[in-house]
Amino acid sequence: MPKDIKSMYEDELKEELALIGEPSYRASQIYQWLHKGVKTFDEMTNISKKTREKLVENYYIFSATIEKKLISSYDDTRKYLLSFSDGENVESVLMHYHHGYTSCISTQVGCKMGCTFCATGQGGFSRNLTASEMIAQQEDAGIRISNIVLMGMGEPLDNFDNVVRFLKLVSSENGMNIGMRHISLSTCGIVPRIYELADMQMQLTLSVSLHAPNDQIRSRTMPINRKYGIDELLKACRYYISKTGRRISFEYAMIDGVNDSAGCANELVSRLKGMLAHVNLIPVNEVGGTGYQKSRKERIQSFISILERAGLTATVRRTLGSDINASCGQLRRAAADTKKKEARKE
Ligand code: SAH
Ligand code: SF4
Repeated sequence: MPKDIKSMYEDELKEELALIGEPSYRASQIYQWLHKGVKTFDEMTNISKKTREKLVENYYIFSATIEKKLISSYDDTRKYLLSFSDGENVESVLMHYHHGYTSCISTQVGCKMGCTFCATGQGGFSRNLTASEMIAQQEDAGIRISNIVLMGMGEPLDNFDNVVRFLKLVSSENGMNIGMRHISLSTCGIVPRIYELADMQMQLTLSVSLHAPNDQIRSRTMPINRKYGIDELLKACRYYISKTGRRISFEYAMIDGVNDSAGCANELVSRLKGMLAHVNLIPVNEVGGTGYQKSRKERIQSFISILERAGLTATVRRTLGSDINASCGQLRRAAADTKKKEARKE
């Protein structure tokens, strides 16, 4: 069975080449080609034909099929629906900011965590993605990626080994060479993995999806909270900050009548005060069937002013690509609905 060459570290590639009787110095040439996005070994023009033939026999270069590509007419946000050879679909988004493109990638097909406001969470879980399946999500010819956020479908820390591999590959000098400081990982709060990540001391930005100031509300919307409550989660966050010196970004989706009262804002202040933290408020995306609605503008304004008065830094996140269903889980869900409709017609 040919092996997935694009998920390999450069050092692993060296060992592999030794196994097929090739000199190890070829590893860095091959590795560079792979991460330039070649789709076939024949495109590796400085590698001899004989070596290429051996590579074809033993390895394959993973690439995904773009099933759908939508470009927002407002802001050039690009959304992709990709399919893999086993028929699974994932979404990724490239957001065009003034400093370049940021890719927002999925780490799993679906998600096990079941957050009640999330389209992905409602759809259940299929499988983890490999590192090369994550890399493929930001490969669109001619587009240079400057930042990566792991905020698409799935819970990155529930696919820890593949995600860490992906991070090391994309940040490697001969790979895409994207500095860890340009990468953000968002988690719903799998506490033991936050400690593990902290101990690795990578300089990435950690985003924690908090979405509630207390266990009562959080356990209702985010089932993971029943396993790791807020105290335990914030303790892990403090450890992360002390180990890495990096500020944590707390995501807070504002849901009308659920977590947007002045009382909630005050509670959040007392939880986060003194922490190297930033709060990102996001008017919740209204996902069909969840019954949740966005908080009103005035509510968001008064919430943010309570945080700011207490000395916390907070922003309201600008939504990009709102005309193309650019947020988490929505495109895949739309595709699944279309498939269901088509099946019904048959
Ligand atoms: N599983 C990870 C990362 C993927 S979700 C996590 O939960 O952090 C990326 C972000 O989108 C998370 O902050 C998540 O809580 C948020 N999100 C999910 N559904 C949303 C919705 N309907 N409206 C606003 N934010 C949402
Ligand atoms: Fe999974 Fe994140 Fe959605 Fe929760 S918000 S269901 S953890 S993808």
